[in-house]
Amino acid sequence: MENNQTQKIVTRFAPSPTGFVHVGNLRTALYAWAYARKNKGTFILRIEDTDKAREVEGSIEHVMESLKWIGVNWDEGPDIGGPNTPYKQSERLDSYIKYAKILIEKGFAYADPYTEEEVEAFRKKADEEKRPFLYRDHRPENPPVWNGSLPLRFKVKDIKSYEWNDLVRGHLKAGAEALDDFILIKGDGYPTYNFAHVIDDLEMGVTHIMRGDEFISSTPKFLSLYDALEIKRPEFVMLPPIMGPDGKKKLGKRDGAKDFLEYKKEGYLPSAMINFLAFIGWNPGTEKEILTPEEFIELFDLKQIHISGGSFNEDKLNWINKEHIKLLPENDLEKYVFEWLPKELQIKKIVPIIAERIYKFGEIKDMVEKGELDFFYKEPSYDKEKLIYKDTAKEIILKNLINVVDQFSKIEELKFDKNEVRTCLDVISLETGKKGEVLHPVRLALSGLEKSPDPFIISEILGKEETISRLNKAILLLS
Ligand code: GLU
Repeated sequence: MENNQTQKIVTRFAPSPTGFVHVGNLRTALYAWAYARKNKGTFILRIEDTDKAREVEGSIEHVMESLKWIGVNWDEGPDIGGPNTPYKQSERLDSYIKYAKILIEKGFAYADPYTEEEVEAFRKKADEEKRPFLYRDHRPENPPVWNGSLPLRFKVKDIKSYEWNDLVRGHLKAGAEALDDFILIKGDGYPTYNFAHVIDDLEMGVTHIMRGDEFISSTPKFLSLYDALEIKRPEFVMLPPIMGPDGKKKLGKRDGAKDFLEYKKEGYLPSAMINFLAFIGWNPGTEKEILTPEEFIELFDLKQIHISGGSFNEDKLNWINKEHIKLLPENDLEKYVFEWLPKELQIKKIVPIIAERIYKFGEIKDMVEKGELDFFYKEPSYDKEKLIYKDTAKEIILKNLINVVDQFSKIEELKFDKNEVRTCLDVISLETGKKGEVLHPVRLALSGLEKSPDPFIISEILGKEETISRLNKAILLLS
């Protein structure tokens, strides 16, 4: 059953701190969070830091910052605590030892006395005899008492095939050959992932486990542990992989599985990131493609996760981000745009012009660096030949510019806005019969650019005096 009314839904995101998180990790977190939020449940952040050799400093902060950035907030976690504190596996060793002892007592675990060389010899022999190497074929007859310094192995007693239900994939099955005596606690005293997560999920009351489908092959191991400990299986929600842009192979670092916080640095919106991640492998079953985080939570349904997964497409992300930029209230938009602008360019009226031209806010930085926005606050310099439109004679361009200055001068200062300017330029264009011969030199005189926001808006932003002064300068250059 997907949603047992009487049971509080508890989900978790359980990253290992082995480097930066990427879109794949965040999508897992997002689905677990959305499911908890939708069902008024609890979402836990747990850090699985038992592989000390692979740990990378700063990873925990990185994952927290990534989640916080997009608003995936947790109810229990290492920083805020909760009823099942602590939330870092390295601080939960007592729990693992407690359950390890239960397993030893029940005859489900034994201390592994073999040296590396001995194991290698077993392996070699198995190879020679062309049979798979299995630990369970080499169980010691009288294992030493486990004192914490030897690895502790699980003893699979029921060598059988396992069946289970997955809320994405339905009924799954694996043969007995998948089962072997795996390590519960390593020689260094830390538990393995296989053991630790089962104990934590049990103690934390996790009802739904969402994780990548690469864990399907290990599931029989987990099931044998649940059985040995006589605990109820949680629900499994194995998420499909995120494919690269070609849809053929799994997303790799080269084609987009980058440090998730890079997206923040590039100026994407958190709501767009949620929208984008949500749709990789899920959709609401309607045509709607732009969702706010609240709408996503409302519509999220495990049944709509597709087994085949989805592919990562940065163009799609850019499109989604642009749509989310359009949804921003004016003040928020201004705040975002201003963050990327130097003081002298923090002009209210240029905000919509910039917003129209970008997919992500980071593009503003390029515009600023390339000087594309400089004309808003300083006179542009340009080659006077550029004022000429196609093969129009210089005299015609000059005449048109003089005419424009004449007409602009007649507009009252207070009425000098984009509509008035547009009407005025339209009338002049009609008289001359060639729009380009009027608009092109005006645009150039005002911005120094052949491609720029339209000259009506530039004029409004510059104001009457500055506009006329720039046009006069162009006239002077051509005279
Ligand atoms: N620590 C595991 C990982 O980062 C989590 C797997 C799980 O969610 O159970 O891959």
